[in-house]
Amino acid sequence: MDFNLNEQQRALTETVRKFAKKELPDIANEIEKNDKPPGRDVLKRFAELGFLGVNLPTEFGGAGLSHFDAVLVLEEIAKISIAVAFPIFESSFGPALAISSFAPIELKNNILPKVCSGDMVIAVSMSEPNAGSALTDLVTKAEVKQDKIILNGQKRWCSGAGHADAYVVYSRMSEEKGAKGIGAVLLEKNTKGFSFGKPENHMGFRGVPSADMYFDNVEIPLKNIIVPAGGFKKLMEAFDLERCGNTTMSLACAQSSYDYVLNYVQDRKQFGKPIIDFQAVQLQLAEIKMKLDASRLLLYRAVVNADKDLPSIAESSIAKCFANEIAREVTGKCVQLMGGYGYSKEYPIEQKMRDAWGWGIAGGSIDIQKTNIASALIGRRFNQRN
Ligand SMILES: Cc1cc2nc3c(=O)[nH]c(=O)nc-3n(C[C@H](O)[C@H](O)[C@H](O)COP(=O)(O)OP(=O)(O)OC[C@H]3O[C@@H](n4cnc5c(N)ncnc54)[C@H](O)[C@@H]3O)c2cc1C
Repeated sequence: MDFNLNEQQRALTETVRKFAKKELPDIANEIEKNDKPPGRDVLKRFAELGFLGVNLPTEFGGAGLSHFDAVLVLEEIAKISIAVAFPIFESSFGPALAISSFAPIELKNNILPKVCSGDMVIAVSMSEPNAGSALTDLVTKAEVKQDKIILNGQKRWCSGAGHADAYVVYSRMSEEKGAKGIGAVLLEKNTKGFSFGKPENHMGFRGVPSADMYFDNVEIPLKNIIVPAGGFKKLMEAFDLERCGNTTMSLACAQSSYDYVLNYVQDRKQFGKPIIDFQAVQLQLAEIKMKLDASRLLLYRAVVNADKDLPSIAESSIAKCFANEIAREVTGKCVQLMGGYGYSKEYPIEQKMRDAWGWGIAGGSIDIQKTNIASALIGRRFNQRN
């Protein structure tokens, strides 16, 4: 077992890092200030460099690299900010992967090349006002009526709502109860009967718009069915990879905070010497470093074991859960290590802390991941309702 990046992976990381540091900080600052997602010019630049759909097959416009390569790219961009990295997350881990793994070929051909060229932003919409952790309680209905689907219902917390051009909408597609009746359809933005509520005002995730979405007898062509009723298991398999993207975003928040603070503690002087010379500060940095490395190894295990396939629920849940927890802890410690400057918006770490917190809710809460892990340990799902 070799824990070092090979030559190609090192070169990829280095190229992305240089690009990110040179071209993205000002853009990320604007996004944070104005709460507006990255513009089409940024998407076009990402597309030019092969960062959209890093791990999607070349036949659909992707770069055809591995999930591990996609992790390397996403981390370097997300170290600048999660909002500027969001299009990479969506195109290499999120809804694009559900389409690329399970949609009919015509839909893949229609959507994925546009995602990879930066001409289409897609988002995933699962959660509803009364179906968060209890996702299989969702009630949005996609009824097949002759040659079309009629969609009715309401969604909540969709990252990208109002901004994305198309949405992977988890819906009830048969009369069967629970997971068995759930499938997913692709809904394009300007479809009649599809509207958005007022923009959410989140603690972090600025530049990642969120809003309620309403479907009032929305007509969707049959060819937009990604998976029919009974496809929930497949959607969750694709979601195992989304969890690795979530893990990477969490890790990037933590790693970039640590990188910043490592310099800060060597510069900042109190009592006539750099604060790194105090043993209490040294111990905290050592503890942070151990947690970052452990988190990175769990993430790499999940994606490397998956190879070109989808990761296991256990390995992706372990990686996500650990990264979500340490990202909150590490970014919080980094704020503290910078004293008043850590708490100031003039410095980058308070944003990292706010962004880091969200990943432990998005994509399934930390405790729900722990339930997944325990299920995998004993080989059966726990019925939360009895
Ligand atoms: C920043 C952000 C981005 C998001 N992006 C998206 C998106 O793009 N698309 C989308 O569809 N959704 C998105 N979500 C929604 C997210 O998936 C849900 O918020 C999440 O699944 C939790 O659901 P909930 O908010 O309804 O909380 P609840 O389900 O009400 O949970 C509240 C608390 O109760 C605990 N809890 C609930 N049930 C159990 C149980 N059985 N055992 C133990 N503890 C339990 C949870 O762990 C949690 O701590 C996003 C959320 C956030 C914060």
